[in-house]
Amino acid sequence: MSEKAIIYSVPEAAMKGAHVSGMPAYLKLVAEADADHGAYWGRLAREFVSWKTPFTESLDEREAPFFKWFEDGTLNASFNCLDRHVERGQGDKVAILFEADDGRINRVTYSDLLARTCRMANALKARGVKKGDRVVIYMSMSVEGVVAMQACARIGATHSVVFGGFSAQSLRERITGASAVMVITADEQLRGGKQLPLKAIVDEAMALGGCESVKDVIVYRRTGRQIAWEASRDRWMHEETQAQADTCDPEWVGAEHPLFILYTSGSTGNPKGVQHSTGGYLVHAAVSSTWTFDLKDDDVFWCTADIGWVTGHTYITYGPLAIGATQIIFEGVPTYPDAGRFWKMIQDHKVSVFYTAPTAIRSLIKAAEANEAVHPRSYDLGSLRILGSVGEPINPAAWEWYHQHVGGGRCPIVDTFWQTETGGHMITPLPGATPLVPGSCTLPFPGIAAAVVDETGNDVPNGQGGLLVVKKPWPGMIRNIWGDPERFKSSYFPPELKGYYLAGDGAIRDAESGYFTITGRIDDVLNVSGHRMGTMEIESALVSCTALVAEAAVVGRPDETTGETICAFVVLKGPRPTGDEARKVATELRNWVAKAIGPIAKPKDIRFGDNLPKTRSGKIMRRLLRSIAKDEAITQDISTLENPAVLDQLMERN
Ligand code: ATP
Ligand code: MG
Repeated sequence: MSEKAIIYSVPEAAMKGAHVSGMPAYLKLVAEADADHGAYWGRLAREFVSWKTPFTESLDEREAPFFKWFEDGTLNASFNCLDRHVERGQGDKVAILFEADDGRINRVTYSDLLARTCRMANALKARGVKKGDRVVIYMSMSVEGVVAMQACARIGATHSVVFGGFSAQSLRERITGASAVMVITADEQLRGGKQLPLKAIVDEAMALGGCESVKDVIVYRRTGRQIAWEASRDRWMHEETQAQADTCDPEWVGAEHPLFILYTSGSTGNPKGVQHSTGGYLVHAAVSSTWTFDLKDDDVFWCTADIGWVTGHTYITYGPLAIGATQIIFEGVPTYPDAGRFWKMIQDHKVSVFYTAPTAIRSLIKAAEANEAVHPRSYDLGSLRILGSVGEPINPAAWEWYHQHVGGGRCPIVDTFWQTETGGHMITPLPGATPLVPGSCTLPFPGIAAAVVDETGNDVPNGQGGLLVVKKPWPGMIRNIWGDPERFKSSYFPPELKGYYLAGDGAIRDAESGYFTITGRIDDVLNVSGHRMGTMEIESALVSCTALVAEAAVVGRPDETTGETICAFVVLKGPRPTGDEARKVATELRNWVAKAIGPIAKPKDIRFGDNLPKTRSGKIMRRLLRSIAKDEAITQDISTLENPAVLDQLMERN
């Protein structure tokens, strides 16, 4: 990074009045955490969260790696997200501005949201749901989805949100895995002008068997389409809630009480049911929402993630509400009615802080370059102040485009590295403090002991790649894999790593600045004739061929002579080439990579698809690409795969 790195210093306007303003302020927080990790997080826990009973000890490490934070404190997450803002006189502030697929807008104040949450909580109680029970939520983006989550939190039930795109089989596994007593769903969802079934899939999941623990299915009427009805089990949400009181005393729970279970996206293996706490999680959510997005009272925040993913949990349902922010929730997709939808919504609602994923940015670049009308410069995006990225590494070319065309060259981009397991941001710039380098997630969040080590847990010098670990526990961390403590220990705390948390990603720190760059998943490091290369580096080189390439993924194929050979899967900006044309473009791209990195990095095999196989959260499923590269039959779990049709295209060799 050091020679070529382009550094963007912190703009004056971003520094002014920021929660964390200037590098010295960042370093002061880091020093405070270094001096006394427990005391530092304890201070933040008292400042950012309201406790019913104060905790007396921050961190209990006696049963490591089953760490406990703020254990004897009691609180309620929904009280923190709703009641306390109303009590402080913020009841009339808009909590959620909901924009439906068809553009209809609904503003929900903090008072409204509290009343709706209470009615829902009372309805759950009336059906016998109690503290400690698990409730599966299978809904699309909606105020009702957030209300359902908050209502569970209010009564101490543990929710498990399942993304509304999952199949009956995946849903069933998640229902049985949690022994859920209730499923909350909708008749249908509306996305991109299409009505897609939800309740019918719940019915199908239940029919697969094993879901006997479910007593009730609560159905939100979204589209009103006729659906099958099982009178002994199905209940309309509006009927259940209408007669309920709009107050409901929160159930005070211990800080370690499981707030939710959430499955990882499944890009590397079978999804894991990640169990999170209430107290520590909320502290991490609230502090990171404040510092990473520098949210102020008059900001309009928009996180485009789905509530079915951790980003939607921490940076929609919990973080922004915990700090009393105003946010947008969007039902639809970025490409409907056209690929200018995001830009139009930013313009219409004067969004000031915008948080999205590289996969969305890349697809919108492709659309904008083909059609000026949906280019961000055709909209007034002057309200934007901070941009964010999450979910995958953002390659420098996409970063620059996002910075220039969406942020008008003036908005810092926070490239936030974190995981379902980490609960909140781990390595990220703070917009008023951290100079930016495109493609780098920069420095650890204050209080996160991130480091790069070798296979035995020893630090590697800056400038050398290694395993990304976290040396000390932090409040928002995963507490367990639901029902599988052994897998929890072996996946995240392997014995050879000195008790450090293993993220599963590779990283490298810049020799001078110490900035972190994520080099890809641990199993994404290639060894070609003794040269070690991250797949990310080759992908970035391919994507930097902006005239041709829209997206690329690189994997290794075992090779007897060279150890591994490089296979690249490429989506072009133009139509997918075949035959001679494909071979011609492949040669061009090979030469391009040779020039950008060196001949050793030339992909041996290049294949073209209309898209790449992605999880429903938009991440590239590299484990499938590895099988395809080896010409293996695909026998793995593809239930989280969004677009199975592209697999056939990618199997074609050029
Ligand atoms: P599974 O663990 O089931 O394979 P997953 O890791 O894709 O699924 P998530 O928890 O949603 O599930 O994603 C976390 C991962 O996403 C990280 O480990 C990292 O690989 C990637 N990631 C997230 N944000 C960033 C970022 N800003 N830069 C680089 N990588 C990122
Ligand atoms: Mg993961």
